[in-house]
Amino acid sequence: MSCSESFSAKCDAVLKQYTKDHLVCPRCGADRYSMGFKSNMSQVLDDDGVFRNRDSVRCSCGWSGIVHGLVPHLEPLEKD
Ligand SMILES: [Zn+2]
Repeated sequence: MSCSESFSAKCDAVLKQYTKDHLVCPRCGADRYSMGFKSNMSQVLDDDGVFRNRDSVRCSCGWSGIVHGLVPHLEPLEKD
């Protein structure tokens, strides 16, 4: 997915947050980079307005699913 110029600032922020929220395997905690995962950024807005990346992911632990099934990294997040 590419961001249109007029939308890019907001779009970049959304993509960054999405990457944080869907980063690691829910089973073993491997991150998408150690899976050798490459996104083709096929995010779509569903009818309910929720942003989902449907790229398929297969982890070395045997878990497979879509990017949207990944979970946030367990590192402490910024608190506010
Ligand atoms: Zn895994």
